[in-house]
Amino acid sequence: MRMISLNMPRIKLCQLPTDLEPASNLSEKLENVTIYFKRDDNTGLAMGGNKGRKLEFLLADAIKKEADVIITTGSIQSNHTRMTCAACRKLGLDVILVLKGKKPLSFQGNLLLEKLMNADIRFVDALSYDDIGITVNYIMSELKAEGKKPYFIPVGGSVGLGACGYVDCALELFNQADKQNLRIDYIVNAVGSGGTSAGLEVGVRLAKKNSKIVGISVDAEKTVFKQDISRIAQDCASLLEADLKILPEDITVFDEYIGEDGYGKPSRQGIEAIKLVAETEGIILDPVYSGKAMAGLIDLVKKGFFEKGSNIVFIHTGGTPALFDMLVNN
Ligand SMILES: *Cc1c(COP(=O)(O)O)cnc(C)c1O
Repeated sequence: MRMISLNMPRIKLCQLPTDLEPASNLSEKLENVTIYFKRDDNTGLAMGGNKGRKLEFLLADAIKKEADVIITTGSIQSNHTRMTCAACRKLGLDVILVLKGKKPLSFQGNLLLEKLMNADIRFVDALSYDDIGITVNYIMSELKAEGKKPYFIPVGGSVGLGACGYVDCALELFNQADKQNLRIDYIVNAVGSGGTSAGLEVGVRLAKKNSKIVGISVDAEKTVFKQDISRIAQDCASLLEADLKILPEDITVFDEYIGEDGYGKPSRQGIEAIKLVAETEGIILDPVYSGKAMAGLIDLVKKGFFEKGSNIVFIHTGGTPALFDMLVNN
């Protein structure tokens, strides 16, 4: 395949390309399918993860618009806020992190890393990101009154522009696969706010491949994500001036693997998946996203969702710092 490149402003923040790595021990254990890992846990930016690729496009836009302070939001153990903070430190931009939840007694995992980067963190004990939006707007107007130029990045960087990072990931992946003569039947990833899946959906179409994107939700119901992902993908396609139609019914998302305690709380199946991958491949997944996505992949293999002989690429979206906050007693 000829290397397609995206005609969008972009700044280099990540270590790319990430490896595409066969997981033969895990594949042997699961039987009937071959699993590969796309190692987006190794993108850099204070310990890696999927948000780096999105930030290459989002922060290029912020710089183009002459922003001098970035504001973003996420949960207490947000990988997105940690990576945004790292990118801003690297670029010499000011950054404010508005985190959803109470200030914890001790700073572990992503919070610890944010602390080391001397992040300006504002804890807001709100129920939803709509409520967080009120605080964000207030901070934005204060900054403007001081003569600053703030730039807001929504939760997870999951807007059309951020999704360009995963269009690029898909193109990078197919380029690697073509060189190895590898046919990719399925691409499996964790879904938290939908930008990763949206970018992959656009990328598969631009590369004219038949690979099916399978998202495993870690928070919302699949009906919500089918809408969100198709909307973000459509926005992304129009930014790239690609004539694509991506409808909610074209999106595959499973919502059976969120776990009974919900978003951000480890599930039994997720912890088992983390242990299995660690013990067979020496690869470390995380309790909030990739562990639950892998639990979904394993269960779907057992249920025969993937045809025998399928090649499945699991996007390792990172998130490992959260392990050190959550799995102390496991
Ligand atoms: C944010 C995140 C995801 C989910 O990606 P979205 O684009 O928000 O759906 C998956 N894994 C990790 C580790 C993340 O931090």
